[in-house]
Amino acid sequence: MTDNTLTSPVYVIGGGPGGLATAAALGRLGVRAVVLEKSDAVGASWRRHYDRLELHTTRRLSALPGLPVPRRYGRWLGRDDVVRYLEEYAEHHRLETVTGVEVSRVEPVERAGVPGWLLRATGGRELLARAVVVATGYNHTPYVPDWAGRDAWGGELLHAGHYRNAEPYAGRDVLVVGVGNTGADIAVDLAEGGASRVRLAVRTPPHIVRRSTAGWPAQRSGILVRRLPRPVVDRVARVMCRLSVPDLAEHGLPRPEKGLYTRVREGAIPVQDVGLVEAVRSGAVEPVAAVDSFEDGKVVLTDGSRIAPDAVIAATGYRRGLTELVGHLGVLDERGRPRAHGRRTLPGAPGLHFTGYTNPISGTLREIALDAHRIAKAVARTTGTAR
Ligand SMILES: Cc1cc2nc3c(=O)[nH]c(=O)nc-3n(C[C@H](O)[C@H](O)[C@H](O)COP(=O)(O)OP(=O)(O)OC[C@H]3O[C@@H](n4cnc5c(N)ncnc54)[C@H](O)[C@@H]3O)c2cc1C
Repeated sequence: MTDNTLTSPVYVIGGGPGGLATAAALGRLGVRAVVLEKSDAVGASWRRHYDRLELHTTRRLSALPGLPVPRRYGRWLGRDDVVRYLEEYAEHHRLETVTGVEVSRVEPVERAGVPGWLLRATGGRELLARAVVVATGYNHTPYVPDWAGRDAWGGELLHAGHYRNAEPYAGRDVLVVGVGNTGADIAVDLAEGGASRVRLAVRTPPHIVRRSTAGWPAQRSGILVRRLPRPVVDRVARVMCRLSVPDLAEHGLPRPEKGLYTRVREGAIPVQDVGLVEAVRSGAVEPVAAVDSFEDGKVVLTDGSRIAPDAVIAATGYRRGLTELVGHLGVLDERGRPRAHGRRTLPGAPGLHFTGYTNPISGTLREIALDAHRIAKAVARTTGTAR
């Protein structure tokens, strides 16, 4: 263990876009940052995503600080290009990255009167840090609701995080649960990939927007309206959605009751249409009621109907998974999210920063890039570690 907080580096936990961007921003200010990544390479989350995945945010507005995304990757980056970009990014900035190291706990320490942090990591490692940036991802731990009868069900039940492509589902009847962007993408992928029947269980009808209209990306609208009052954005969005997306009520997907921005504030990002609207209209994807439980080899829906799919894919989200790492420090709210984010820290936890734990309408990658600068400046100022 390094025994002096003053000479310790800043540790960044997680080698995804958030960790890499912040490490690069720290480096630019002359602060030594070491990225600790539990898997064997940077961009681990992206390596695991499904084959069809494309960014919903534009190339330009998804770039991390100090390296534009190459033009050759096109306007909407595919999964493999995101991974390639992250690899290039780490190399370009010569980031000090240690892979195969999982941090299990962060604890406060004081050495020679200087406060810092002790990181407990794989193989009994103890690492001393002046400051820590936690960037372990908003989509950390796959979450499947604890539906009654779930464990006794004989069919295949898979979290969307483990779905790769439609191949294993050709000729099979599949129920996708949850209509966020991932659920919508997977339902369309299955329908196009030869599943015999695709149903989509919907608890709350989503807002659906076009990814881009006449060349204008939905993300730019998201950035523009971000600071406007919620009722104003709700009203404008209602008009825009009615003009650009057909009414799918007769196909089982009514327009949502609550406004678009009201839902965003509740944590529900609109679904960007990359095929769902047409698939629902044509009957290739059939919206059904939400899942209530599993019983006698059937899935019971909240409208009382019982269906018998061969497989259920739960696109039911993720949890932050921060409790073990930092829960004992009093820095998390009741939902397990950091109480202070980005450049802000809590009085009892100076030098402990979090990045990537919001789900903004303007695009997470863009926010991660902006936060990287802010965190780097705050760390350099409060620790005086700039070289
Ligand atoms: C399917 C999907 C599509 C998305 N599309 C877009 C999009 O189009 N545009 C956009 O802006 N955003 C998008 N996002 C959101 C967001 O940009 C990505 O999730 C992005 O990868 C977040 O980066 P991150 O660094 O915060 O987290 P991650 O990419 O998840 O990186 C976290 C890293 O931390 C590592 N790690 C975790 N725990 C530990 C530990 N204890 N010790 C050491 N290492 C650890 C993980 O292995 C991982 O490499 C999408 C998200 C998903 C899930």
